[in-house]
Amino acid sequence: MSTPNPSSVAASSGSSFSLKDFLSSLMLSELFKGLALTGKYAFSSKITLEYPEEKTPLSPRFRGLHALRRYDNGEERCIACKLCEAVCPAMAITIESDVRADGSRRTTRYDIDYNKCIYCGFCEESCPVDSIVETGIFEYHGEAPGDLYFTKDMLLAVGDRYENQIAAARAADAKFR
Ligand code: SF4
Ligand code: SF4
Repeated sequence: MSTPNPSSVAASSGSSFSLKDFLSSLMLSELFKGLALTGKYAFSSKITLEYPEEKTPLSPRFRGLHALRRYDNGEERCIACKLCEAVCPAMAITIESDVRADGSRRTTRYDIDYNKCIYCGFCEESCPVDSIVETGIFEYHGEAPGDLYFTKDMLLAVGDRYENQIAAARAADAKFR
């Protein structure tokens, strides 16, 4: 059996150390290439944000915290049809209703359990009067299971507080609906 020639092995594997490589090492060219790349990104515009001070734009279709809306005269939009409750795949919505003195039907209870909600948006899609909607609010949390159980008053309060934002989002998305 013949012994392999070391120089031919080095040449065939491409690992031979040339004069060019030697000069490159001597001049620290790889180090300067790396520093140039670091410098390029250090002074270019950033693609990351300093959350929570900075925030990314949200789609008008963003599905965050729910809100129950009112008409301009303050009347609740919800007519207690219970379509949202029926369509909810997570069974997160609980509605009870009654007939008021004026003959109109309204909810006496409207709860959403966020421990169950999967933010699918079906409730919003099913509502015939744009009452239950999902807002762009995503900065909320609960520290106990009960903290994520929203009652009708809480949902109406969200709607009252963010109505301008909700109306603007729906107007922006109207032509695609
Ligand atoms: S977003 Fe989906 S899961 Fe959540 S309450 Fe609405 S229908 Fe139910
Ligand atoms: S929120 Fe809309 S879909 Fe749900 S009960 Fe009220 S009117 Fe019906």
